[in-house]
Amino acid sequence: MSTLDPSQGDPSSPLKNNHPHKSRTIVMKFGGTSVGDLERIRNVAQKIKIEHDQGNRVAVVVSAMAGVTNQMVKYCFDLDTMPAMEEYDAVVASGEQVTSGLVAIALNKIGVPARSFQGWQVPLITDDAHGKAGIETVDGTAIKACLDQDIVPVIAGFQGVDRSGRIATLGRGGSDTSAVAFAAAIKADQCDIYTDVDGVYTTDPRIVTKAKKLDTITYEEMLELASVGAKVLQTRSVALAMREKVRVRVLSSFDKTDDSSGTIVVDENEGMEKELVAGIAYSLDESKISIRNVPDKPGVAAAIFGSLSGAGINVDMIVQSIGIDQSTNMTFTVSKGEEHRACQILDEHRKEIHFGEVSTSHDVVKISVVGVGMRSNTGVAATMFRTLAERGINVQVISTSEIKISVLINAEYTELAMRALHAAYGLDAEKEDC
Ligand code: ADP
Ligand code: ASP
Ligand code: MG
Repeated sequence: MSTLDPSQGDPSSPLKNNHPHKSRTIVMKFGGTSVGDLERIRNVAQKIKIEHDQGNRVAVVVSAMAGVTNQMVKYCFDLDTMPAMEEYDAVVASGEQVTSGLVAIALNKIGVPARSFQGWQVPLITDDAHGKAGIETVDGTAIKACLDQDIVPVIAGFQGVDRSGRIATLGRGGSDTSAVAFAAAIKADQCDIYTDVDGVYTTDPRIVTKAKKLDTITYEEMLELASVGAKVLQTRSVALAMREKVRVRVLSSFDKTDDSSGTIVVDENEGMEKELVAGIAYSLDESKISIRNVPDKPGVAAAIFGSLSGAGINVDMIVQSIGIDQSTNMTFTVSKGEEHRACQILDEHRKEIHFGEVSTSHDVVKISVVGVGMRSNTGVAATMFRTLAERGINVQVISTSEIKISVLINAEYTELAMRALHAAYGLDAEKEDC
């Protein structure tokens, strides 16, 4: 549904367009592949021009060119395994600075007035958790002033500025979160996330070719799917959209698109049928840590996990099994990047907690099935375990939430397990006619 712009009835309004009744405020966000080279940047500019020429107020958010942020991250860590994160942010934020300027140039070239904004120029203020900063405030004044003058603001995603004036980034994939934050700040009617797939699928279409595109998905399901590995939207962007009631749509920057394109993220009560399983995701960013011979007495788990959480390490799946002589073995997962630090922390506490050998394993994948329908239906877990068992795949760790079941298995079975589960939950797309 479109919202009429209040300025439309005013003939003195600086917003000039030929379609006075269609004006909506839209945020268009373009991901790394979409702005991956100059040809693609020209394509993006054309897409923006179409929306702008229809009389919409358009704010644009861009990622860095595909691969650029990875290269910047590598530069930092090649120089120092523990770089100052303020400097890391100064480096990795640079990719978005380039694309915001380039997209503005491409727009001006085709007659669409545009100007670039860096995060600090908006400003988007963050906390000081450099490398993965949280957004504190977004001032929409400058962007709105730009829109009022019929100029398209092209904002560098992924970046902001902390209260001491240092550039900060929002964690990998953070341009999605920037886009939603700007959409909330300027009260946009919609936040369109343009990417290299034409919507959210039942699972990653690059892994399971029979994945089905979803017309809608609930915020809650999208949040779970993103948090367990579906990187099509950054998890924080979905949480923010849910909280700020931003209407998010995911669609392709390479296909022709119209109002019905892509996938809309909706409220659970927006009247669609609740599928038992909405989607399946996988994450290879898992490291399994096992501690042997942990004393089996109250307070030990609290001491272990308390020390890890105190160091800001996020522990995900946990399993405990009986060991020898009144002891247990504990296994849990952390992200690969946090494994080294987690082992250091455990080492520091070894003497006081008295546990045995600590071992780690990387060749694991976490596979998760997600669906709000799980609340009212049983059997989802049983189907998962049976399907994996039939393929001879051993489940190492399990974790569940109200609408999600995750299992940790050997990484070599990633594709086999994903395809088998996708079929087992009846998610496979019908065969297309040749
Ligand atoms: P961008 O650079 O545009 O932000 P990303 O690479 O971050 O794009 O996200 C898009 C990718 O997300 C797709 O290319 C696809 O491989 C992956 N993906 C993972 N799970 C899903 C899913 N359920 N639906 C659609 N895409 C998915
Ligand atoms: N360029 C950043 C990254 O690669 C942010 C983004 O693409 O959303 O993580
Ligand atoms: Mg992304």
